Order: sequence, then structure tokens, then C-alpha cells
Amino acid sequence: MSTFAAVDVIRTKRDGGRLSDEQIAWVVDAYTHGAVAEEQMSALAMAIFLRGMDAGEISRWTGAMIDSGERLSLEVDRPTVDKHSTGGVGDKITLPLAPLVAACGAAVPQLSGRGLGHTGGTLDKLESIPGWRAELSTAEIMKQLNDVGAVICAATEGLAPADRKLYALRDVTSTVESIPLIASSIMSKKIAEGSAGLVLDVKTGSGAFMKTREQARELARTLVEIGTAHGVATTALLTDMGTPLGNAVGNAVEVAESVEVLKGGGPADVVELTVALAREMLALAGISVDPAEVLASGRAYETWCRMISAQGGDPEAALPKPKHVHVVSAERDGILSTVDAYGVGVAAWRLGAGRARRGDPVQYAAGILCLAKPGDHVTAGQPLLELHTDTPDAVASALASLNGALTISDTAVVPTSIVLETLK
Ligand code: URA
Repeated sequence: MSTFAAVDVIRTKRDGGRLSDEQIAWVVDAYTHGAVAEEQMSALAMAIFLRGMDAGEISRWTGAMIDSGERLSLEVDRPTVDKHSTGGVGDKITLPLAPLVAACGAAVPQLSGRGLGHTGGTLDKLESIPGWRAELSTAEIMKQLNDVGAVICAATEGLAPADRKLYALRDVTSTVESIPLIASSIMSKKIAEGSAGLVLDVKTGSGAFMKTREQARELARTLVEIGTAHGVATTALLTDMGTPLGNAVGNAVEVAESVEVLKGGGPADVVELTVALAREMLALAGISVDPAEVLASGRAYETWCRMISAQGGDPEAALPKPKHVHVVSAERDGILSTVDAYGVGVAAWRLGAGRARRGDPVQYAAGILCLAKPGDHVTAGQPLLELHTDTPDAVASALASLNGALTISDTAVVPTSIVLETLK
């Protein structure tokens, strides 16, 4: 591999130039191995943040991050397909989706993360199930994919180590919100995971990373371009994250809601998005089965039980209950016009459902139940939210973040579809 001086690479991007394939391969590799210092990568990340990268640079940057670690080779006798969400409030879709798509005949390797900030983490939610284990070896992942068809577990250390290092640096240098850096970060992990197809759920609205539809569309387009350039069949759905998904936001409460969906019930928006994503995943896998029928048949719930048991969890065990519940009620009669995703997400986090720093513990029973959805008629005094926590002192700050999150008006709310656009 050619060798460069880090300052020259930084200067090229600082001045608005294009990084060559060789410069990108070198700088990512040298950073991973400690030969490019943290302060040099900070400067380069900021230069990329300010100057951007073109499609070729982004694809090569992603490739270099994949090459920094192992690329799993999935030895399974069914088509492999995965889903990734850019993160939202109440976004528990992975939980019903992975067993549903497996019950339809595909293999779903879901290597997930923990929550940071106001969006929850899939592993934190599943760890509220007594006995469930997130850390699996590569051999255990392969066995479960073959036996059950679905596995949701922690990403192994060897996948895209350059991204792990760079993401931690971006977090403390205010360089997270850059489409080239977000897209390459997400796709390096997903492509290294080895599945043949990938569906991306790109969220837009107050509870999402991308607050506007234009930004979300650009991220979705970039993600699809990277997947295609790396030989992974990729589709993206643009979906609404202005209001929490479903009724439950937190850990155990989201598991309980996912189980309702797997048993054929659950909130309409969670069912709609689960089925829409399943359809796209099955299309990429070349499987013509109707996921709505499989969900209604109970077969996805059977797969869920096998998936949880295979990782030491008891799918029938009682989930943790909060020590304290605080109810927020409607101040007047009218139509609930807003339940703001960001306000509810921050409140759930402050109640203990999320963590402020990597490695902090989470409360499994903490979270929020939304008892009414936008568009519902409500009357003064009617309970709208239940705040769950083990630490009652947290309620005051949760209520502060809910200030202005709920609005009641006299005009009807026009119902909108959760899926806004599809990009292939
Ligand atoms: N998720 C990721 O994995 N990376 C980012 O940069 C942002 C969200």
C-alpha cells in the first residue's frame, strides 16, 4: 500500500479536493492501526464534514472501513437479507421483523447495537428478557441462522473496527451529522456482516437523525449507492419519525408490544411498517410469500420463541415492571394533534430507558406508554402518557422534556402513511 503524509491528506480535503483511492485506503488503515493520530483524524473528519465526499470517495471510504476487519461469510442454505434503521423513538421493528422474515423462508443476521441518546438500542430492549444473551461467537451466529433462520445479537469486535474508532471520535468532535460519514459508517458494518440483500429504514422527522425529508432522501440515496457499488442488493424506505412508533417507548415495554404484534395484534403503525419492510426484504431474497398472512398465522411468533430460547432467554417469562408510574393527562377536550417523537424519546431516556455515556446501565422497566395517538379525540383529564421508572426523582426532568410535546387542537388531523417513499 502507498504511504502518504496525513497532513497532505487533510490539506487536500480541507481545500475542497478529491481524495484518491490510495489516500483513502492508506488513511483509514493507518488510523485503525494508530499510525494516524486522533487529532489528525479529527481534522480530516471535520474537513469531510465541511467539504463532503463524492460518490466514488464514499464508496472507497466504506470499502476501506470494511477492509479494516473481517467480512463474515454466511454459510446458510437460504437467501440472506437484513434490515437497518437509522434509529427512532419506539422503533422496535427489528424484534417482530427478524422472526417474521425467517418464518417466510429467509435467513436474517441482525447484528445490532446499544442505544445512545434519545433513540433506543435493540440489544438493551432484548436484554430485558430474563436470561437472554447478546454476545454470540461467529460459530453460534451461523448455527442459529441455520437452525432458526434469525439471530439478533451484538456485532462481533472484528467487524469494521475502523468505524468503531472513528464513530467514537466523531461523537466527541461534532462530526456525526455528515451524510458521507453516516452512510459509510452504517454500510461498512452492514456489508461486512455478509448478507446478500439489505433494506434500509431511513427515518425523517423530529425523532430522527435526519430532521427534513430532503436530508433523509439524500442519505437514503447515498446508502443505496454504496450497497449497489459493493454488490449488495439494497432498497431504502423513507419513513415518518415525527411521532413515536406504536404505543411503547423503552425497553421491556417495547418487547411486550413486539410480542403482541407477533401474536397477530399490536398497534396498526408497527404492523404496517413491519409488513412493509418484510415485503421489501422478501423481494430482495426472491421469496414470494405474503408476510401479512405469516404474521396472522402465528408462525412468526413460534420463530420468535425459538430465537429467544436459542440465546438463553425465556420467551414466556414475566418482563420487569417499574417501581413507579406517573400519568400525564389531557388538559382539555379536543383532538390530540401532536405527540412529538423527540420530546417523548428524551423523556424516556431521562426516566432511565437510555444511557448518557457508553457503558452506563439502563433500567429495563423504564419508558413511556402512549395511551393516545395523534388524531384521537380526547377529553380533559384523560390519561395520555404513562411514565415508567425505578427512580421517581427522574420524573421532573422527563416532564420538562415533554413540555410542548403534546398538543390538543380543535381541527381534525389528516392521517398519513408511515412509509413516505421507496428508493431502489
Ligand atoms: N449509525 C451509525 O452506525 N453510524 C453513524 O454515523 C450514524 C448512525
